Amino acid sequence: MSAFEQMASMGHEQVVFARHEETGLRAIIGIHSTALGPSLGGCRLFPYSSESDALRDVLRLSRGMTFKAAIAGLDLGGGKAVIIGDPGIKSEGLFRAFGRAVESLGGRYITAEDMNTNVDDMNNIRRETQWVTGTGRATGGSGDPSPVTAWGVFHGIRATLEVVFGTPDVRGKKVAIQGCGHVGYYLAGYLAEAGAQLFYTDINGGKVRRCVQEFGGEALDGEAFYSLDVDVLAPCAIGGIINSRTIPGIKAPIIAGGANNVLDDEEADGEALKTRGITYAPDYVINAGGLINVYSELKSVPRQKAMDDAAAIFNTVKSIINMAQTENTTTIQAANKLAIERIGMVSAIHRMHIP
Ligand code: NAD
Repeated sequence: MSAFEQMASMGHEQVVFARHEETGLRAIIGIHSTALGPSLGGCRLFPYSSESDALRDVLRLSRGMTFKAAIAGLDLGGGKAVIIGDPGIKSEGLFRAFGRAVESLGGRYITAEDMNTNVDDMNNIRRETQWVTGTGRATGGSGDPSPVTAWGVFHGIRATLEVVFGTPDVRGKKVAIQGCGHVGYYLAGYLAEAGAQLFYTDINGGKVRRCVQEFGGEALDGEAFYSLDVDVLAPCAIGGIINSRTIPGIKAPIIAGGANNVLDDEEADGEALKTRGITYAPDYVINAGGLINVYSELKSVPRQKAMDDAAAIFNTVKSIINMAQTENTTTIQAANKLAIERIGMVSAIHRMHIP
């Protein structure tokens, strides 16, 4: 498929290739939609094996950001950037050159942290453009978004419990967390405080030990996660882990966690979970707290407002699961439908001429 055909198939507005000889910058910025506002999404640094892999990733990820912002009720569109490069070789120049590419778009795209980029990189981008969020707190930025993300996931889990068990009470519920990194760690803290019984797995044993020591609970073997007899599986590590191989063994009635792209195949795996009666809280709905956090930075509102807005993910998750049950669709289909409806509504309003 040509680049234009790929853009057309997913509905992208604009794709920008940026290159800078001296710093070795090779970046692609994908602007999927600005119907709701400026496009926003992180900048991922990754050693893609080909340009077409990088293009495919940026197109897929930027489209996902449109849906995430739409469902979270934000005045933001969807965008994302990828830099093709070795995460082990970062330089001030690379990110400043990328910052100038972002600046050239005049605010149509706002960047942020993503895989293999951090607050220091955002601070370098900031030297060349104002269109960056997630810079350090010292420079007025909102800092680490993961406590807010985890707070939203916690409330999304409560909402899912309410639909499945008739009460959002976490006390005594068994929750298995895959990935005890930024999001998983904070989520464990919130769940432990609310009285949940926790199980953890991570490829980094030190991170599991830290959670067990601080919040109690038990360590798990990696594969045991999928078939554990618990109330909730909370994936907080990598994507694609709920798939045709893992679904048949799942005993938990709920899958609700912070990871992105949890389902390997949105359509097929969504259907398989529905058939098995497993309730899935759609990833981009339940983990929108990070985006809500950077939005609060853009709008200069206090962190507490971001936490309150993330807590409101409870209502969104609950209404999406209820809608899926009423309309006999998967939860991800229900979420996509709501996002598309909101984009359509706002686009229609914007067609009104204001003199
Ligand atoms: P992180 O890198 O801090 O943590 C991920 C953890 O998962 C690490 O401890 C890692 O060792 C572990 N891990 C990796 N592969 C694993 C595997 N196969 N099995 C078990 N553990 C494994 O990342 P994070 O910021 O906590 O993000 C976690 C997930 O949440 C990602 O999918 C990310 O895209 C998503 N997410 C994060 C945020 C945020 O605010 N940080 C926001 C939205 C979505």
